[in-house]
Amino acid sequence: MDKRRARIWERVEAAEVDGFLTYAPDNRYYITGFTGSSGYVLMTAQETMLLTDSRYAEQAKAQAQGVTVMMHAAQWLETLHEQVKRLAIRRLGFEPGSVTYKSFLKLRDAIPGIELVPLDDVVERLRMVKETSELERIGEAAKIADDAFRHIAGFIRAGVSEREVALELEVYMRRQGASGVSFTTIVASGERSALPHGVASDRVIGRGEFVTLDFGARYNEYASDITRTVMVGPPSDRHKDVYALVLRAQEHALAGIRSGMGGEAADALARDIIRDGGYGDNFGHSLGHGLGLAVHEAPRLARKSEDMLQEGMVVTVEPGIYIPGFGGVRIEDDIVLTADGCARLTHATKELLIL
Ligand code: ZN
Ligand code: ZN
Repeated sequence: MDKRRARIWERVEAAEVDGFLTYAPDNRYYITGFTGSSGYVLMTAQETMLLTDSRYAEQAKAQAQGVTVMMHAAQWLETLHEQVKRLAIRRLGFEPGSVTYKSFLKLRDAIPGIELVPLDDVVERLRMVKETSELERIGEAAKIADDAFRHIAGFIRAGVSEREVALELEVYMRRQGASGVSFTTIVASGERSALPHGVASDRVIGRGEFVTLDFGARYNEYASDITRTVMVGPPSDRHKDVYALVLRAQEHALAGIRSGMGGEAADALARDIIRDGGYGDNFGHSLGHGLGLAVHEAPRLARKSEDMLQEGMVVTVEPGIYIPGFGGVRIEDDIVLTADGCARLTHATKELLIL
């Protein structure tokens, strides 16, 4: 954590500020190790402070090692004002992406005479490259998701509703040690599988249908995110063709993705294959996203992405084809970029399962 804080401060200092304030919960955790739901982090060259409230007194002291923990007054901004004065901060960096306009106005009024400097994505940029301990936790979250897919493949059949499938998945992951799901479980069957984000509904799964499952486990604060598409009842030739094309695009991207490549080039690895297969207009979303404390974080594997891939980044690779009135297929794995390519964190089978 000390090293992590030193790296953050190095970046903050480059913006010529003498203090840095974060409101963002994931960044608060990343900087301090505190998992409570309320608090603010104030950093200077000498000191990192966690300002939280009395509900979290014990927890904050236990979790936030090497950090000054302070219970703030009923109005936390009064405490901030006192500390900003004590630390002689004149230019205070803040994160424009996590402060609402209303909060910004309150902050400005609470610390008169202090210059507020917007610092975009300082912590998020560092969070892109994972430390070993983070990789272990994402790997564990991925393993829970893999096991859950194996389990759910034995549960799905015609006559079961999407909602029942989602519930079974979620309960199973909790039993395997997940603290929760990493996002609302997607179970989209039949025509609904053409919806890239079809959250489980009361629809009953029928025969001759694709079912797309997109879900993840949260383990020790870190998230996994996997998608598999299965078939209930015998597939038509069209089902087989669409599935094979998505799988080929996904495997091609996994084989070609490497550090030093841009996010746009990575996206093109899969997109070109889907376009050449005649379904370019049916792949509307981007190829992937960073994964860690947040389910969607930097970098982006997408058209127009200017992110550069680096060893140690964890990203998803998730091409899809969505055909209105017919259905859709998406296949998603979590990977970590290595020195010479990538290593998969999710290993669930990608053979088209016919249930
Ligand atoms: Zn997903
Ligand atoms: Zn995803």
